[in-house]
Amino acid sequence: MTDQQTPPKTSDVDLGMDRPISRRDFVHGVAVSALAAPLLSACELPGGGAAAAAQDAPGYYPPLLNGLRGSHPGSFEAAHALRDGNGLPLLPSATHEHYDLVVVGGGISGLTAAHLFRQKAGPQARVLVLDNHDDFGGHAKRNEFNLNGRMRLMNGGTLLIDSPRPYGPVAAGVMTSLGIDAVELGKSAWDPAFYTNLGMKAAAFLDRETFGVDKLLVGIGSVPPAQLLAGTPFSARAQDDFIRIEGGRTDFLPGLTSDQKKDRLSRMSYEAFLRDVVKADPLVVRFYAARTHGEWGVGTDAISALDCWGIGLPGFAGMNLARGSTARMGFTPAGYADTGGSARYHFPDGNASIARLLVRSLVPDAVPGSTASDVVTARVDYAKLDRAGNPARIRLNSLVTRVRNIGDPKSATGAEVTYVRGGRAFSVSGSSVVLACYNHMIPYLCPELPEEQKAAQHELVKTPLVYTSVALRNWTAFQKLGIDRVYAPGGYHSYFFLDWHTKIGDYESSSSPEEPTLVHLVRTPCKPGLSEHDQHRAGRAELLATSFATFEREIRSQLGRTLAGGDFDPARDITAITVNRWPHGYAPEYNALWDPEVPENERAWVLGRRRFGSIAIAKCDAGGGAYTDVAMEQAGRAVNELLA
Ligand SMILES: Cc1cc2nc3c(=O)[nH]c(=O)nc-3n(C[C@H](O)[C@H](O)[C@H](O)COP(=O)(O)OP(=O)(O)OC[C@H]3O[C@@H](n4cnc5c(N)ncnc54)[C@H](O)[C@@H]3O)c2cc1C
Repeated sequence: MTDQQTPPKTSDVDLGMDRPISRRDFVHGVAVSALAAPLLSACELPGGGAAAAAQDAPGYYPPLLNGLRGSHPGSFEAAHALRDGNGLPLLPSATHEHYDLVVVGGGISGLTAAHLFRQKAGPQARVLVLDNHDDFGGHAKRNEFNLNGRMRLMNGGTLLIDSPRPYGPVAAGVMTSLGIDAVELGKSAWDPAFYTNLGMKAAAFLDRETFGVDKLLVGIGSVPPAQLLAGTPFSARAQDDFIRIEGGRTDFLPGLTSDQKKDRLSRMSYEAFLRDVVKADPLVVRFYAARTHGEWGVGTDAISALDCWGIGLPGFAGMNLARGSTARMGFTPAGYADTGGSARYHFPDGNASIARLLVRSLVPDAVPGSTASDVVTARVDYAKLDRAGNPARIRLNSLVTRVRNIGDPKSATGAEVTYVRGGRAFSVSGSSVVLACYNHMIPYLCPELPEEQKAAQHELVKTPLVYTSVALRNWTAFQKLGIDRVYAPGGYHSYFFLDWHTKIGDYESSSSPEEPTLVHLVRTPCKPGLSEHDQHRAGRAELLATSFATFEREIRSQLGRTLAGGDFDPARDITAITVNRWPHGYAPEYNALWDPEVPENERAWVLGRRRFGSIAIAKCDAGGGAYTDVAMEQAGRAVNELLA
C-alpha cells in the first residue's frame, strides 16, 4: 500500500495541458470544428468534394491520428440528422456502379460478409464495402504511434480474441482462412505474465472524493486482504467484509438448492447482493461498484449477481452453485466455465489485425505481406482500397442514409444504396445488400421494414465506452510502484493498464521501463440508478458532449494522482493522447435484470435481423453478443440467407 504524500497537481499548467504533445484534433487536415458543423451546411462546405477522395491522397493513414478517434467528428453527424429528421440531400448522384454485393459497415462483420461472399460466389464477384469512418475495422480499430522512432501499437477498440464460447464453425473457418491460429499465437507471441515476472502487481486506487483519502493498494488479488487493507479508511468491520467476500466460504443463501439460489441471484443486482444479502459495509459495496464496467459498461447496480458469479466476481465460493443454465428460461449466466471459452490472443493493435487480414483478403495489394504476423507492421495503402478495376472495394468516409429494395421485397432484384460522402449524396446498387451497420439505425435506412421488426431494432441500445491510448516517455513510475494495472472504483477511468506485452514478426512492445510505452485507459460513462439502457443513453449523450480538453485534463489528473508515489509527472511524461470514443460500443446482450423473459428466438436481435427482400442483416448486434465470433457468425448467416 502506498500513501500519496505528494500533493496532487491540479492546475492546467501543472498537469501539462499547455504542452505541445501529439493530440491534434484534425481529420483529413480539416479542423474538427468545421466538420462537426450541421450536415446541411456541411453540404455546402467548400472542400466537401475534396474530402470525398481523402483516402486516395498520398500519406492518408488514419491509424496515426491522435485526438478524438473512435466515432470521430465528421463520421456520425449525417446519421444524427437522419434520426432527427433534419433533412439530408435527398437526390443522390447516381454513380452507375452495380455490385453483386454491397455491404454497409466495414467492421469485422461487414468485412467478413464480403470475404465469405467472395469465397462462395467466386473471386470475380464484385463487392463494395461502405463505412462512415475514415478507417476500416469498426470497433476493431488500430492506434499507431511513432515513439522515439519505434512503432508502438494499441487497440483503439476491440482488445483481443476472446469469447465466452469456443469460436463456432463460421468464425473458426474465417480465422483459419486468414492464417490466424489463436492458440499458437497465444503461446508464442503474447506474454500475459510479462509484468508479473518483473514483480509488478495489480493495484487499486482509492480516491479521496469517494473513500476520504487518495491511497494506492498494491497487490490486489495477490496480497492477503488483511495485509492489503491495514491502514486504509476501511473500518474493522469493512475489512472483515472484504475477507468474507474475497476469501471466505460463507453460504449467503443457506437452505436453498443451487437452482433456487441461481434464480434468486438472477433477479438481484450484484450491488444488492453485497448490500442486502452479504450485508457488506457501504464503502465495500462502493469498492466493487465498477468491477463490471469492463464487461458491460455499467456498474454492479445494473448487472445480476448471477452474471457476476459467472464471470468470477467474489462472494460465491461457499454457495455451491452448479454450472449450467438456470431453470428460469434456461438462461445461462455470463461466463466461461461451462464451455471453457475461446482461445485468447491479443494482437498488439487488438483485433484490428483481423480487420487488416480481412482487407488483405479482399484487396491484396493494399496490405503488403502474407502472414498473420507481418500484417502487424504492414503499412496499409489506403489509396488502393477503392480502385475501379478491383472486384472488391472499400469506400471510407461514406455514411449510408438509405437502402431500398428495387421492386417489391418479395421479388426484389436488388437494392439501391444511398450514402453521403464529403457532404454529397451518391447511390450505388447491389444484387444483394448486407447491413452490417448498427442495427438500431436500420429503421431509418429502411423505413419500409415491418413495424414489429423496426420496433425490435429500436430496442438494441448499445453500450457507450471510451478506450484511450496514452503515450508515455517511459514506465519507470509503474516499475517503482511495482504495479502494471490499476482498478479505480471512483476514478474518471475505471481502470488502466500498461500495454500488454507482445512480440510478433518485426514488432515488440516496450521491454524496458526506460523506453517509451503506451497505457490503456477505460471510461464507461454510466449513470447508476437508471435502467441499463437508460444508463447507456445518458452516457452516450455525455460522451458526445465531452471535449477532448476535458478528456485530456482527466487523463493527466488521474495518472498524476495515481502514480504520484512513483515520481510520475503528467506534464513531463505524457507525450501523446488518442481518445477512442465509442458512443455505440458493445452490442446488447441479454440482461436478466432488465430484459423481458422471452425465449431466445423472441429476443429483439432475432426479431430485428430478418431478411427483407435483397437485404440481409448482420453485425454482432444481430447475434446478441459483443464479440468478434458473433460478428463473424452473423455475417455468415446473412450471406447464406442471400445466397440461398
Ligand atoms: C471498446 C470495445 C472493445 C471491445 N473489445 C472486444 C474484445 O476484446 N473482444 C471481442 O471479441 N469483442 C470486443 N468488442 C466487441 C466488438 O464490437 C466486436 O468484437 C466486433 O468487432 C464488432 O464488429 P461489427 O462489425 O459487428 O460492428 P462494428 O465494429 O461496430 O462495425 C460496424 C461498422 O458499421 C459502421 N456503420 C454504422 N452505420 C453505418 C452507416 N449508416 N453507413 C456506413 N457505415 C455504418 C460503423 O461505424 C462501424 O464502422 C469490443 C467493442 C468495443 C466497442
